[in-house]
Amino acid sequence: MLSFDTCNAARLRRDAAFDGRFFTAVRTTRIYCRPVCPVKQPLTRNVSYYPTAVAAERAGYRPCLRCRPETAPFCPAWNGTRTTVARAMKLIDDGALDQGSVAALATRLGITARHLARLFEQHVGASPLQTAQTLRLQRAKRLLDATDDSMTEIAFRSGFGSLRRFNAAFHALYGRAPSELRRRRPPSAAGRASQPAGATAHV
Ligand SMILES: [Zn+2]
Repeated sequence: MLSFDTCNAARLRRDAAFDGRFFTAVRTTRIYCRPVCPVKQPLTRNVSYYPTAVAAERAGYRPCLRCRPETAPFCPAWNGTRTTVARAMKLIDDGALDQGSVAALATRLGITARHLARLFEQHVGASPLQTAQTLRLQRAKRLLDATDDSMTEIAFRSGFGSLRRFNAAFHALYGRAPSELRRRRPPSAAGRASQPAGATAHV
């Protein structure tokens, strides 16, 4: 993990080179952001830094609706055993834990589940299962913002076993239903251009 001072300096100048390499959590709002967030800068004494989105969520922070952490570049800037961790992240992002087990994932990587858990704790700041949940929610949020797919379609396309589980997980993270966030989508948002004329209601 980068030092606090490195992250803080990058945040204050909104340095795009650090996008995806750390996330800024703001204690006063309980929101976490990308370094490039356009929102007014929080005071340094109110922020802390996390190496991944899932680590910030695990600490109780919600993704910012302005800078959309789910769109940050995938940037595994981890040292040491980063190859194994990066491979695991890629496999999880491809859905390895949507159906399969952590043990099966570890076997594919040629390590024990215990070692995989340790690597994740150290480099990602969360367990493989927590990471899988965050990646599913990120997929769902991107689909919510970029498509007009129904909630059921989004739930299954993003790897949730059921609409109910998708709704529960989404609500736990964002504090509101997925359909509520879609209604808030501004007219200029992505996906709008591909809509037929007059199709404006999203419920
Ligand atoms: Zn933000």
